[in-house]
Formats: sequence, C-alpha cells, structure tokens
Amino acid sequence: MQRLDHHYIDGRWVASRGARWLPVFNPFREQAIAEVTAGDPADVDDAVAAARRALPAWQALGGAARGGYLDAFADALTQRREALVRLSSTNNGKVLAEAEIDLDDAIACYRYYAEQARALDARQGQAVAIEMEGVEARCYFDPAGVVGLITPWNFPLVTSAWKLAPALAAGCTAVLKPSEVTPLPEQALAEIAAEIGLPAGVLNLLHGDGEGIGAPLTAHRDVDKVSFTGSNRVGEAVMRAASEGSRGVSLELGGKSPIVVLDDADPEQAADWIMAGIYFNAGQICSATSRLIVDSSLADAVYAALASRIDALRLGDPLDEASDMGPLTSERQREAVNAYLAIAEQEELSAVRDGRDRHLPEQGYFLAPTLYRDVPTTSRLWQEEIFGPVLCGHSATSEEEAIELANASDFGLAATVISADPARAKRVGRQLRAGSIWYNSEQLVLPQTGWGGFKRSGIGRELGPWGLSAYLKVKHIVGPQ
Ligand code: NAD
Repeated sequence: MQRLDHHYIDGRWVASRGARWLPVFNPFREQAIAEVTAGDPADVDDAVAAARRALPAWQALGGAARGGYLDAFADALTQRREALVRLSSTNNGKVLAEAEIDLDDAIACYRYYAEQARALDARQGQAVAIEMEGVEARCYFDPAGVVGLITPWNFPLVTSAWKLAPALAAGCTAVLKPSEVTPLPEQALAEIAAEIGLPAGVLNLLHGDGEGIGAPLTAHRDVDKVSFTGSNRVGEAVMRAASEGSRGVSLELGGKSPIVVLDDADPEQAADWIMAGIYFNAGQICSATSRLIVDSSLADAVYAALASRIDALRLGDPLDEASDMGPLTSERQREAVNAYLAIAEQEELSAVRDGRDRHLPEQGYFLAPTLYRDVPTTSRLWQEEIFGPVLCGHSATSEEEAIELANASDFGLAATVISADPARAKRVGRQLRAGSIWYNSEQLVLPQTGWGGFKRSGIGRELGPWGLSAYLKVKHIVGPQ
C-alpha cells in the first residue's frame, strides 16, 4: 500500500515527523488504498521557515518569470491529465466526466494566473491621479507574504489551484495542506514543482489533518495570511487563530444555495438545470443549489420531471463511463447525510424520491439521490448544508415571495434563476444575496469571474482579478515630483 510519509519542504521530499497515520480510501471499493501521515507541528515550522527564506527572491523575480512557472504547472497538469483524472476519481469517488471537468478547471486556473502575473508587472508603479500640485503618488502591489493554503476533499486539484495559482502569481510563497481524505491528487503538485525547477521553498506541501498540520499552520505567527476552504466550523477556528497576531484570512465556506424556477419557465428544461445543480459530485458541492424554490403553478410538473430524471441516473463505479453518479467520498460523509434523512423521517417530510428506497450497488459509500417537496422553511433540511444528493423543494406564489425565500438563509454562496425571459432572470438575480448567480444554465465556473460568498459563506473572493488581490498588499509611494 502506498505510504504518503514525506512532505515536500524547501524543494526536497522530507520524512514526516508525525507519529499518527490515517487511511486514505477508495470510496467505491470501500478499501484503504494508501496511508497518509497526520503530520506534526514541527513539520509546519520547517515548511514556514523554508517559505520565508524563499520569499524575497520569488518576489524579486517579477510577474513575467512567475507567470512562466505557472504556465509550466498548466503544461505539466495537461501532460498528466488522464492519470490525474483517474486518481481523483479513485480517491474522491466522482465519475470520470466530472474529474475531467476538474482537471480542465485547474489547468485553466494556472493559465489564467500566468497571464495575471505578467499583467501585474505593468500595473506596478502606475501614477495615481491626485489633486495636489507638485506631488506624485504611485501605486505598487507587494505579495502578502508567506501564505498557508488549506483545502477540502470535494474538488481535489481545483480548490488548491484557486489558491496556489494566484498566490504564486502575486509573489507569495506557500505552504499547502490538502485534505487528508483526498491527499493523493495534490501530491502531483509537489512532483511538478520539482520537475519544473520551481525555486526551493516557493511551494511546500504538507500532508496531515487539522490537528497535525492545519491548526499549527493557522496559528503560526510567521504565516502572514491563511486562505481556507472548508466547513464553517473549522473556518471560524481558522479566523480565531489568525486573530492572534492580526493576520489575514480568506474563507470559502459552506452554502445552502437556492435555485428559483419562475412561473414562465419550461419545467423539463428547468429539471435539467436543477439536476446538475444538486446531483453533480453526489451533491458534495459547496455551491449546490439544494433549495428548490418553484412557482406553485409549475410545482407538479417540475417534480414529475425531476423524479423521472432521478430514476434514470445510473449509480455505479466512478471509473465506469456508464456511471452518472459515484459514491460519497467517505463513510463519514454518508453517515452525516443519512442523519439528515433520519431527521426528514421524524419531520415527516414528503419524499418524491427517498434515496433509502433505491437498490444500490453492493459496495461503495453510495447514497441515492433524494428529493423532498413542500419542505417547511423551519426544517433543518431546509436551513443547513447537507453536502450530499438531497434536494429540498418549497413552492412560491409570486416572484417577490421567491426572492424572499431565496434570501432567507444564513448562507449566500450561489444561486440559479430560471425563466423564459432572460431579462427577468437577471433582474431577479440582482436581488439575490450571493456571490455567483447563474440564469438559465448549469453552474458555469470561469477563472475570470469571482468566486465567494455573502453572509456565512465566506470572506473574500477567489478567481478573477479579486483572487489575485487576495494575495497582494497595496502600497503607495507619495512625495514631491
Ligand atoms: P473541513 O472544514 O472539515 O476541512 C477542510 C480542511 O481543513 C481540511 O484540509 C482539514 O484537514 C482542515 N482542518 C481541519 N481542522 C482544522 C483546524 N482546526 N485548523 C485548520 N485546518 C483544519 O471541511 P471538509 O469536510 O473537508 O469540506 C467540506 C466543506 O467545505 C463544506 O462545508 C463545503 O461547503 C466547504 N467548501 C466550500 C467551498 C467554497 O468555495 N466556498 C468549496 C469547497 C468546499
């Protein structure tokens, strides 16, 4: 069995000092396929020190040269694409077609920030228009410093790309900690760093869990900023830890996003977009549109269209191209989702499709797609992130009520609006409090558009120029001309 017992620190593979080991699963086979070190705070000290040493030269290199390294990351990921697609699918449980989308997303992200790194050079030292005679003001962008990057298990290589690519473009040096649940795909990033000759210490990869690596990395006083993607519970702990030393954080947290179907929508077309918003990646999507708000005049037609699509979904081996949905990524996640199904039973929610009624593949942490209708807004299933293939529906009798329902959430990561009239859909979208609004489409995630939440869904933005700004410090130099 593979043993991930080395970190990548200061340009070398270094044995972990951690004494604990964690199994890494293939969730379809329900088998441990590797063991990963839980890491040790001493490993964090070494990695942060290496990143600190590497920072001045990496900053001084300039955006154009840093962009060259990011292009090299994109090239190397492209070369390894097929192997990484299979590895990601094996470790995470997502079907091949979805793992392919992930790889393409990650590659596009490195390419985009290669370009942004080059463009940064031209932005350095630009004059600021001021209204004072004889005085000059110029604007510069310095890297935020040494950054700690912590990622979850649902989108291997994607969530890390969204942090690592802009951080390196900005001139930061990084200590990256992927999820201990899916540590295998990210291992490639350190291999690529070595292969392309990335200067030692610019990227350090630490394996481990929250206790061994995550918390010590967040608390480390020589880490200037932490960018975290994961649960609200841990995100709040990260923020508390970063408050010691008044250090910066970016947080990409949970969601309970709405999908609004207005009264002029085509129920069949709407059903396709609703399916994609909740059953992709077996519902383990931070931006899952898990609250369906459907105009009451269309509700029966939409639920019927969804039921037939759910029945047609093929659950199976994620490596089999015939499968539409794989297992959940871990037994723990399946238990967490099952706990919500138990609550639904207690609350006597009306199931259009109950995942527990469906015959499942013999092995794998499967949980079948579930759909409840007329879910009361007081239900925990309506209010809390479930992070599984569970859709809750509620009817609205007007556009205003739909908007009110959509916004009545602690979260605000994303939303989708469906209407026969694109102008109407956009107008409704403007009234929703969320960072990404799609209309009449699947969830289009583009490196050029920002990603991040309103309300409890997070602090800051990834992707686009805002993703770069998250790793820059703005500096003005002002004086006589
Ligand atoms: P999690 O919070 O359990 O873990 C995330 C990461 O934090 C892991 O690498 C984990 O090892 C680490 N960690 C655990 N304890 C820590 C601590 N005390 N200090 C620092 N790091 C610690 O989340 P998860 O279960 O891996 O991921 C699921 C969650 O991630 C969901 O809530 C989902 O909505 C969210 N998510 C958000 C986005 C987004 O863009 N907003 C994207 C993907 C996932």
